[in-house]
Amino acid sequence: MNVVTLSYAHRMTPVATDDFVKITPRHLRQADEMCRRRLALELDNQRGNPPGNARFEVSNRISADARLAHTELAPPEARAFVLPTELLAEQQRVYAAAVAGYLTLFGSTSARAVDTSFETPLPELEVRLVGDIGVALETDDGVEVRVLRVGDRGHARSLLDDIDLRFITLRAAPWSHGRPLRLVVAELLNLDHATFDIDVDERAPAAYEWVAERVAFIRSIADSDAPRAGHDCLGCRFVNGCRAHG
Ligand code: SF4
Repeated sequence: MNVVTLSYAHRMTPVATDDFVKITPRHLRQADEMCRRRLALELDNQRGNPPGNARFEVSNRISADARLAHTELAPPEARAFVLPTELLAEQQRVYAAAVAGYLTLFGSTSARAVDTSFETPLPELEVRLVGDIGVALETDDGVEVRVLRVGDRGHARSLLDDIDLRFITLRAAPWSHGRPLRLVVAELLNLDHATFDIDVDERAPAAYEWVAERVAFIRSIADSDAPRAGHDCLGCRFVNGCRAHG
């Protein structure tokens, strides 16, 4: 049984979270357009068959290695970035270029990785906010989250939207402890980056209210008897047994 201690909104209460509904940024952003069956099964914590994550293999690896590179409050240790030889040769070249980008952008900044959980429970809503928010760090100036993108198009500022900002604000609330949060989104191949300075305590209540409304709506439309074949089928864990593909 997962038991966590909460610090958001003055709730320092250990709660069991196993039965809480899993809510991801994708649900918050796209539930309206999602297949209702897929949505219902995801909310019901059904696992299904996991899709591949090849598209994110390099950026996930960079983020994992960046956390290892910041074990002390110091500039990153370059030796923590080990070429992932299990990836394709092309991916390895992209990885090397992305590491060079990371060290160019952040190589002189002291920071120490914060061990954050992969999810944040909101007990009154009986949901868990689930999803990686980026590399969480303590710095000399406060706390920082680095969202590392590899090969994404668009200006860095456009790589995060209001939903990301609300999600990250609520996920960061339990460990930022009132300190200012600097959010940096960086595209590591072209070095484009943007910075958002967030007062978590000030923004968290509004973010919470928005999520609460959104969760109520998402629950109202989820329907395990209503498959809707389309774009959502790509990456769906529940193709097996789906009557839309019978
Ligand atoms: S396979 Fe397609 S139609 Fe069936 S649940 Fe998944 S997304 Fe919906």
